Amino acid sequence: ANRIVVKVGTSSLIHPSGAINLETFDQLAYTLSALNNQGKELILVSSGAIGVGLNKMNLKKRPTEIGAQQALAAIGQSELMTLFTQRFNHYLTDIAQVLLTHDIFDYPKSNKYVMDTFNCLLNDNVIPIVNENDTVATDELDHKTTFGDNDQLSAIVASHVNADLLIVLSDIDGFYDQNPKKYVNANLISTVNHINEKTFTVAGGSGSRFGTGGMQTKLLAAKRMLDENRQMVLANGKDPRVILDILAGKQIGTLFS
Ligand code: ADP
Repeated sequence: ANRIVVKVGTSSLIHPSGAINLETFDQLAYTLSALNNQGKELILVSSGAIGVGLNKMNLKKRPTEIGAQQALAAIGQSELMTLFTQRFNHYLTDIAQVLLTHDIFDYPKSNKYVMDTFNCLLNDNVIPIVNENDTVATDELDHKTTFGDNDQLSAIVASHVNADLLIVLSDIDGFYDQNPKKYVNANLISTVNHINEKTFTVAGGSGSRFGTGGMQTKLLAAKRMLDENRQMVLANGKDPRVILDILAGKQIGTLFS
């Protein structure tokens, strides 16, 4: 794979206690920098703005009001980018912030603007770090929608930039035949070639405190990838260096292919 989109969930960036997982930030920066140096084209889709915002404002739980969540996301997003900037600077890699909404690609004009930006950044070896623009859209915040924590945004981006591979890092080792947070004898499924309605029935909601999507939205992302003949790997983000093993062809997590 030469053009790769990596999506990292809130659960990988924020400890269950609400503290920032600095190790994950560092290992992500290390891994993506190493791959960037090898000439791979990378886009990072990162959630976590609200989690970082909660941490910054010393709040324990997500407010229920959408406006308050948007405000926290605005606070957290700049802090999130500061954390990434620090770690990527350490590995001498340039990054850029790209804030999108899910529908941005539906309009020819904005689609072109976004694509021009991505192409320029990738040509210049800069890693775009994408998140939903929570100030102007609430798709990710509003749990009534199915976008969920950027899982689908990452698939939309992978699709438009014509990525070969989407790597989704979560707090779970892969896709199981039932929710492993509920059933101890759940089995990891190493390869999935088809996704149908039955597949969705074993995918439950989020188990983590800050995550929002759960497995449903990850399967929707995987389905889009499969429909377009792209690959997706779902793996545990507790050590993002796992990305190097995935690209080395090791059997890790669940491969949707
Ligand atoms: P993230 O913040 O990384 O996006 P989420 O908490 O939104 O993570 O989604 C991952 C969670 O989905 C897992 O921790 C697990 O609790 C839940 N889940 C539900 N069904 C399944 C399944 N069949 N296989 C794996 N995880 C599942």
